[in-house]
This record gives sequence, C-alpha cells and structure tokens, in this order.
Amino acid sequence: MQVPDWETPLGEAYRHALAHLTGLPGRPVGVPVDPAAMRAALGGPVPETPTPAADVITALATAAGPGLMATGSGRFFGFVIGGVTPAALAADWLTATWDQNAGLYAVSPAAAAVEEIAGGWLLDILGLPGDASVGFVTGAQMANLTALAAARHEMLRRVGWDVEKRGLAAAPTVRVLAGADRHDTIDRALRFLGLGTDAIVAVEADSQGRMRVDALRRALDEQSGPVIVCAQAGNVNSGAVDPIGAIVDLAHGVGAWVHVDGAFGLWAAASPDLKPLLAGVERADSWATDAHKWLNVPYDSGLVFCAHPAAHRAAMGVRAAYLVHADGAGRDPLDHNPEFSRRARGFAVYAALRALGRSGVAEIVDRCCALARRFADRLGAADGVTVLNDVVLNQVLVRFDGPDERTRSVIDALRADGTCFVSGTTWRGRAAMRISVTNWTTDADDVDASVKAMLTLAGPR
Ligand SMILES: *Cc1c(COP(=O)(O)O)cnc(C)c1O
Repeated sequence: MQVPDWETPLGEAYRHALAHLTGLPGRPVGVPVDPAAMRAALGGPVPETPTPAADVITALATAAGPGLMATGSGRFFGFVIGGVTPAALAADWLTATWDQNAGLYAVSPAAAAVEEIAGGWLLDILGLPGDASVGFVTGAQMANLTALAAARHEMLRRVGWDVEKRGLAAAPTVRVLAGADRHDTIDRALRFLGLGTDAIVAVEADSQGRMRVDALRRALDEQSGPVIVCAQAGNVNSGAVDPIGAIVDLAHGVGAWVHVDGAFGLWAAASPDLKPLLAGVERADSWATDAHKWLNVPYDSGLVFCAHPAAHRAAMGVRAAYLVHADGAGRDPLDHNPEFSRRARGFAVYAALRALGRSGVAEIVDRCCALARRFADRLGAADGVTVLNDVVLNQVLVRFDGPDERTRSVIDALRADGTCFVSGTTWRGRAAMRISVTNWTTDADDVDASVKAMLTLAGPR
C-alpha cells in the first residue's frame, strides 16, 4: 500500500489553525466582507486536473480567511455561539483523522463506548436521571426532533396507536402545548414529524418569555387526547427559564409528556448557584441541549436525553439484516439519533468534559452569567440605555432610547467597528440589541471594551 504524504497538508492545516486561533483575541470581530472578492478568490471553473493537497489547503485558508467570522473571539456576542476549548478541538481533529462511522458498536467500539461514558457523565453533571437514554445529534434542532419523536411514540402508544407502523393518517390527534416564546426549532420539528404546526397550542408567556402556569392549566383543561408539553430552559432572547417544576406537576397530573428545550439553558443545571432556576427539570420526560453552545465544543454537536429509553429506541431504532447489532455487548448509537452513518462526535464532548471536569463546566456557565450581569450593570447605568430583561443567565437585551432605528444603527455600527459582534432582535414589539455571553474565553476586559464601543457608537442621546 502506498503511503500518501500526510505531513505536508496536515502541517499546512496546523499552521493555519494556529494562526487563526492565536489571532482571535487581536482581530476585529465581524469585519465586513466584499462578497464579490471573496467569491472570486474561492471560485473559478471546475478544476480540470489535480492540485497537491497542501496547495489546496493554503489556497482555501487564504481565500476563506476574509469571510470567516471571528465567532471564537471572546468579543463575539451574537446569537448563542460558543467557541472551542483546546481539548475539544484536538479531539475533533482526531475524530476526523480516525474517520469512524459512529452508527454501530461493531463498526467503532471506541466511538460507541465513549458516547456511552460521556452520556453518563452528562446526565450526572446536568442532574438528570442516570438511566435516561442519550443521543448525540447535530444540534438542538435534531435533539428537539428526536425527543418529540419519542414523545409522539409514547403518547400514541398509550392510546393504542403504533405510529411507527401506522403513521399519522387516522391517528388520534396529538396536541403540543408550548410557550408563546418557544424556539422556532420546536415548530420545525413538528413539521418534520408530520404533527404539523397546527398541533401547537401556544401558551401565553410572561414579560420575560416564561410560560405562564395559569395559562398552561387552562390549556391543559381544554385537552382530551394525547398531549405533549414543551417547556423551555433559556429563552433565546431573554435567557428566561420556564417554571419547569410547576409545568411538570401540571402536565404529569393529566398524563402529558414534558419535553424541555434547553439548548443552552440546560447547562445552568451544572452550576450549583444557578440550578434552583431549573428546579424540577429532572422530572421531565425528555431534554434537548447543545454541546456546541455553552460547552464550547466544535460544531456540530447536540444532545438529546430521554427518561423513557424504550420510547426513544422505538422512535429511532433500526434493525437490518446486513447490520451487526450490539445486542447486549454495547450500545448502538444509531438507535438514539435520526442519522444512520455519522461522525463520532462523542469524542469531542468526552474530551471537553474530561478536561473541564464538573467544576470547570460550572465555572464557564457562572462566569458567562457574571459577565452578562456586568454588561447589564454598565449599560443600564448609562444615560439613555435600557436593559429590557431580567438578566438571569447569559443573555442581555438592550435598547438605546429613541426610535427603533437608533438601536439598529448601533448594532450595524458595532459590526463595522469590529470591537465586538452583537445581533439584533425584536422584543415585545421593539428593536433590541442581543448580547449573548457564551464563549469560554470572554473576560471582564472584553466586556468593558465592548461597553465602551457601544456607548461611543450610540453617541449622545
Ligand atoms: C440554539 C437553540 C436551538 C437550536 O439549536 P441548534 O443547535 O442551532 O440546532 C433550539 N432552542 C433554543 C432555545 C436555542 O437557543
């Protein structure tokens, strides 16, 4: 067998990777791109003949560079985006190198075992039931889909309907009670599952975006058939956490399934100080979260947990004659996620947890929340600036007094300036600037420099 030259292209990739990572603190965040120049540098006609791998890597890194957003910067506060920790990134490199197909235990015993072990650690760190089943998916979108598929199975099974076999045509109607401020991925998951968005009964939310318990009680009273309740830990704008314990009490009282979308907010359960916010979360039936947000694992990495492993496997499991199923020897990952062949994304999660430890995970969450409060304190004290939300987690919503246009123009000016990156939203009908502190490297200096840029660019009222 011929041994290809690995060293030159991997060396070139390593050099560019290191330059990117070490350059992050000093580089502008969110620099404007010239789209035409970027496409011209990357594009051109189909290559007719081969190019040496190392040259391809050099050309790619050079041409892509200007279009890469510094999302790994400690001053990137847009959307809810984490960076990468050294252990997680290095494990992710090995994951690509090993190129394991993590679908079956038989194809990669190590990938399957690492997912089993990391899954157990996650349940422990997040305070979820130790016997819950775990799936490694691409993100919270697929985690919500997987959990809701398990919920759909179980709620219909209880009324004597086998949805995996018979589908939804002629099935009893399933209603999904979800907060008015739920994430859009819940609606999208219901579209994929054939339940449709008409299945949603929107439950009124309070000023912070939390599901109102009295409204849930009324909505539950009106249902007769199978019901799934979707609670949320971490509103994507305000960071607010639904009153999960009260939701579980009411929903379980009428035999409904409770799913918790905790894409980032579920990590608050890892912090002894913040855990009370999620009181009762361990009594839910399924949970979705992301490793690529607050755990700072490279994309793509989401997690689904289910308190009913049989329902989870009934919804996702596969049996085929040509496959070698573990059946007792180990756990086949493909029984827990919608993918068949897939990347062994458990290695990076495992490395992140092993490097950080329980205390390290809590420390990232606590520090991000403390820095979000620092943003709120400093901006809230400035003239003509209003913090719109109770800063309970890592999200801050800010409005610059005056017409919506003023707040939007500060967001645009920040992007052009490059000190930091924030995204915008509409909150309770008015334009707002969203600050999300999710990166593990963000420190007080990053916050202070960003506040200064925000206030300078906003100018006098
Ligand atoms: C980010 C987010 C999602 C979607 O997660 P992806 O990882 O992008 O699929 C779902 N729900 C909430 C609350 C989120 O913050």
